[in-house]
Amino acid sequence: MTLNPAPNSFRTGPDERGRFGIFGGRFVAETLMPLILDLEKAYADAKADPSFKADMESYGTHYIGRPSPLYFAERLTEHLRAKAPAGQGAKIFFKREELNHTGSHKVNNVLGQILLARRMGKPRIIAETGAGQHGVATATLCARFGLKCVVYMGAVDVERQAPNVFRMKMLGAEVIPVQSGTRTLKDAMNEALRDWVTNVSDTFYCIGTVAGPHPYPAMVRDFQSVIGIETKQQMLEMEGRLPDSLIACIGGGSNAMGLFHPFLDDRDVEIYGVEAAGHGVQSGLHAASLTGGRPGVLHGNRTYLLMNEDGQIADAHSISAGLDYPGIGPEHAWLHEMGRVTYLSATDAETLEAFKLCSMLEGIIPALEPAHALSKVMELAPTKPADHLMVLNLSGRGDKDIPQVAQIFGQTL
Ligand SMILES: *Cc1c(COP(=O)(O)O)cnc(C)c1O
Repeated sequence: MTLNPAPNSFRTGPDERGRFGIFGGRFVAETLMPLILDLEKAYADAKADPSFKADMESYGTHYIGRPSPLYFAERLTEHLRAKAPAGQGAKIFFKREELNHTGSHKVNNVLGQILLARRMGKPRIIAETGAGQHGVATATLCARFGLKCVVYMGAVDVERQAPNVFRMKMLGAEVIPVQSGTRTLKDAMNEALRDWVTNVSDTFYCIGTVAGPHPYPAMVRDFQSVIGIETKQQMLEMEGRLPDSLIACIGGGSNAMGLFHPFLDDRDVEIYGVEAAGHGVQSGLHAASLTGGRPGVLHGNRTYLLMNEDGQIADAHSISAGLDYPGIGPEHAWLHEMGRVTYLSATDAETLEAFKLCSMLEGIIPALEPAHALSKVMELAPTKPADHLMVLNLSGRGDKDIPQVAQIFGQTL
């Protein structure tokens, strides 16, 4: 029996129950089901409404700063060619999502969900956040549209990410430290789901990645797909053809899905997702759910998860708080099993090397999350021919990581 028959298209999912093969779905409490169905209907209506699309484009342009540039990373390309055999070394491009308002790709999705919340007449927005980037993006758009904003954040992360906690408060959000479990991202998401069931009538739950119950994984992917749609157009204008490969880092997997999805049926385009290997996948201290986990159910969907032998969710570890999630979006789990996307992993040490190199060669300080993907660009690019076009999704800027990296390099600020 094949549960995952090969599809004619990789872009048709999910089915009407929110499944990508055996992954996804909506494993939620009965009390949450009416809310999920409401949301599904509201999103379907919005998608069919040209005024919703027009609003997305208008705020996307004037508030977020889209389109983000596709940039030829000339010095990085030359640097890696110098290490490659003659005639080899891919031409490397960055899709510059770090230039968006609030500093990462997160805002693309938040804009979509906040416009949807307004259509649904929900005045109170809740969100979960790990490193604080999704919380900041949500607090920002709530300020812009005069909505009440409550952000759940693990107490450990509140300590680790003080500048982002301050930002959210400046923007008028209430930040609630979550004391349950390991007091990190997965606990924040549990708490947000609990809040949602108890505040049914006035509250919209703005999820930060391609996880959660259907329709979130597909909806967040759609809002992030602007990244891949722009990349396609920009590459056609710059090089007259499609790229040969795409590469992006994976926490829950939203920046990656946004870049990948418009290219899934362009079968000549190689696609790479990069998980966080922490101290190494063998060490047990990592966040590589596909490489080092197995299928289970968490936060309303079936996907690959980090678990112990009893099936309890294990702690994720990564140098980068934004990749520190013990699961991965269900569509990635499916693309992994279908073999359409190749999933690699990068250690903390490899990531720091890439972080330094990008800063020194390109004058761009990347966030630690995309530095994971960049470390694999450093490995892959020299193995490709010189006419190979490779696109890295530069999902965020490194300002938020400066205190942490300074400490690692033994510098005081
Ligand atoms: C949150 C974050 C990520 C990880 O989230 P995905 O849903 O996997 O994209 C990656 N990069 C940056 C800059 C982030 O803020």
